[in-house]
Amino acid sequence: MSSTYKVAIVGAGPAGYFAAQALQNSQRDELTFEIDMIERLPTPWGLVRSGVAPDHPKIKTVAKVFEKVAAEPGFRLLGNIELGKDITIEQLRDRYDAVILATGSGLGRKLGIPGEELRGSLSAAEFVPWYNGHPDFVNVDVPLDGKVAVVIGAGNVAMDCARILAINPEELDPTDTATHALAAFHASSIREVHIAGRRGAEHAAFTAPELRDLPKLEHTDVHLSGDEVTQALTRAGAKGEIEKETRNNLEAMRLIAEHPLAGRDRSLHLQFLLAPKEIVGKDRVEGITFSINRVDGDKIVDTGETHTISCSLVISAIGYTAEPLAGVPEDKGKIKNVDGRVEGNMYVVGWAKRGPSGVIGTNKSDAADVVRLLIEDLKTPKNSKGIEEFLPADHFIINQEIWQRINAKEIAAGEALGKPRLKEVSREKLLGLGKA
Ligand SMILES: Cc1cc2nc3c(=O)[nH]c(=O)nc-3n(C[C@H](O)[C@H](O)[C@H](O)COP(=O)(O)OP(=O)(O)OC[C@H]3O[C@@H](n4cnc5c(N)ncnc54)[C@H](O)[C@@H]3O)c2cc1C
Repeated sequence: MSSTYKVAIVGAGPAGYFAAQALQNSQRDELTFEIDMIERLPTPWGLVRSGVAPDHPKIKTVAKVFEKVAAEPGFRLLGNIELGKDITIEQLRDRYDAVILATGSGLGRKLGIPGEELRGSLSAAEFVPWYNGHPDFVNVDVPLDGKVAVVIGAGNVAMDCARILAINPEELDPTDTATHALAAFHASSIREVHIAGRRGAEHAAFTAPELRDLPKLEHTDVHLSGDEVTQALTRAGAKGEIEKETRNNLEAMRLIAEHPLAGRDRSLHLQFLLAPKEIVGKDRVEGITFSINRVDGDKIVDTGETHTISCSLVISAIGYTAEPLAGVPEDKGKIKNVDGRVEGNMYVVGWAKRGPSGVIGTNKSDAADVVRLLIEDLKTPKNSKGIEEFLPADHFIINQEIWQRINAKEIAAGEALGKPRLKEVSREKLLGLGKA
């Protein structure tokens, strides 16, 4: 006898699609799934649309995989529906055999230092979706009228923010950067961008390919002290053989340090062992003061000395936490879970499960592991109806066909301008594109 189970996946980012793909791949004669993917935005793809840097278009081609998953029988996209606003977790748990939360980590971690509330101090969780055209971040205030910007953090998100600020905006013209942000970058006075990490270079969370791209920047000099890299190598080597990832990173950093500077007017500076202490300024950011750290064995120790950089923009890129969801247990910025099991028929995948770590591909094996447990837990199918009846009759749901219409229109509008797409950034206009 064959059983069909209804599964709701909340969040149409990489983890959501990979969970759907794992369910599809697990189907056999006696086990099939009907999958409803619920997404609060009128557009799917999560951070592939609103996070991945516009000057890295190849990464975004993973969306082709997502569209293939969406084309499979039994899959429905239900966009423009927000869990916690339009529907409740109880309604989902009641109607579906299993609910998979794939809602990501949308909130930026705070620095927790004085001056963080000043104008010109913002989080990567605001800056990135602003330049990527996320409808909820179009009006973020990003003052670009000063010469110097500082990005706090030593991971790829910090690197993206710093690179986007430091390159010549003409390099962004043929990309899908949001129109309002592109105009702001063209008018920007920022010429000097610093990335500051709290620990040593050997502990930086950048990945080597991102570092290797830096010397290739055409209009920006990248500064990194050779001594800093040598000291990091010595410290890492003192503990025995250096791990492959660390060695690759430090090798990429050595190439940056050795790359000749061309005296360009745009510069990017990588600095380490600087812990943010205070953002200074009267009405807006005027500078940031760091405590200078040193490495003592496995510990990072404050030397008691400070270093101040005068700047008008500070972007913190020190991690993300999951947005709280009513009826869903939370634990240290993630959805509380054991190997992806939350409670009852509720599961979690992706950044909401693990926290903000790993590349897009990491979410694939992770989702497959959780789906395996979900299948083990399945009981008799509920055979209940979908969730549409919980929504007002005039609620405009973005299904796959409507999304494809929006997608095609954005791509066509971009083609005329030599861009991969021209993003519509207003929720109403996106819905309008779908209705037309
Ligand atoms: C700035 C940045 C750049 C990155 N660049 C790269 C890169 O170049 N290469 C790479 O491999 N990885 C990159 N990553 C990592 C990659 O984006 C993540 O691994 C991946 O997106 C995590 O997938 P996710 O599905 O868990 O979360 P997300 O991609 O965040 O998707 C979550 C989805 O859930 C939706 N949602 C949230 N709350 C609700 C709700 N209440 N109701 C309904 N829907 C909801 C959101 O709108 C979103 O669509 C980057 C990450 C960031 C932040």
